[in-house]
Amino acid sequence: MAIDDKVRKTLAGLGVAETAGVEALFAEVRAAMQQERAALVSRGAADRADQERLCKELRDRWLARKNGLLSCLDENWLKASPRELKPAVGRSFNALRQDSAALEIAALAKDVPVRAEAAGDGNTSTGNPVPTTVSHVTREVPTDLTLPGNRRPLGSLHPVTQVQREIEEIFLNLGFRIESGPEIESVYYNFDALNIPESHPSRDDWDTLYIDSKTVLRTHTSPVQIRAMEKYGAPLYIIIPGKCYRRDNPDASHSPMFHQIEGLAIDSDITFADLKGTLDFFAKKLFGEKIRTRFQPSFFPFTEPSGEVAISCIFCGGEGCRVCKESGWIEVMGCGMVHPQVLRNGGIDPEKYTGWAFGLGIDRFAMMKYDINDIQLFFQSDVRFLKQF
Ligand SMILES: [Zn+2]
Repeated sequence: MAIDDKVRKTLAGLGVAETAGVEALFAEVRAAMQQERAALVSRGAADRADQERLCKELRDRWLARKNGLLSCLDENWLKASPRELKPAVGRSFNALRQDSAALEIAALAKDVPVRAEAAGDGNTSTGNPVPTTVSHVTREVPTDLTLPGNRRPLGSLHPVTQVQREIEEIFLNLGFRIESGPEIESVYYNFDALNIPESHPSRDDWDTLYIDSKTVLRTHTSPVQIRAMEKYGAPLYIIIPGKCYRRDNPDASHSPMFHQIEGLAIDSDITFADLKGTLDFFAKKLFGEKIRTRFQPSFFPFTEPSGEVAISCIFCGGEGCRVCKESGWIEVMGCGMVHPQVLRNGGIDPEKYTGWAFGLGIDRFAMMKYDINDIQLFFQSDVRFLKQF
């Protein structure tokens, strides 16, 4: 239905009974109004008289007291609207009326170009018997190239991506390469190949999102270790960033989807000293030269021996504060020497090669780095939060 017909019906007649409908309807009217104006502006007028006529026509069509579209709208939509819709209709109508000022003749005349102007003054009698012809010279309005362009606001990288790239950069400079793998993973790669036995609690339905009995949403990035060993063999130096999924209820420190990055180095004669040296170097690069690292024994099925890495508190420098719970240390990642069985599962001979691996949560690193206390903020797409980075 054309706008002209719509403004001659009541809201009830148009089947509009709620605020959202009213707003949509007014948006439609506004669009029609702006489009008609834009069409006239781009078409232009042949001469002054034509311009005057066209501007008046458009003005009257919309703003004439009698039968102008806005008058009809006033009569049929605003005055006849049911009481509960009146505030919404009134609001929209007032806004539209303000916008319609652009349809006043003076405002239109400013914008509607006169394409052709009489060249010379044809009425001046020169005594010349030859009738003067009015030549219609097309005068194009030149584009003003000095006007500023339409600037679109630029976005920025997500804080998690920023931290991920910083970590990647450090390891790329050490000669590692980035490897990735599927987020929908088989139970074999996610658990079995990594030496995680059937009885391990992490295989429980409560911790893992199963697609079917043989397929999961990967709970860590470690399956890519096996895939890469199969693909490239040894020696191997890779980091594996990516999304992981666990059956966690969202709260300030948990999210069912989160980001991990892990590193894997396999070569002949790789020892725990290489692991310590590399991670100490990494921590200093990321958090500053003053950072110290601490390794404590831990357990993971896929590494032997396993360790937990802590860094000296980046907030208090090790003095003890709220964040480090007065200990001076913050645990940041797990690590260890790759279990011989895991190497074997990846097709690498543990008699010839050894390796180390580590894994950390990128979101947690980003929280630490930017002092953010709620992981949910990363995933809510709130621009007010995101544009701080
Ligand atoms: Zn502290």
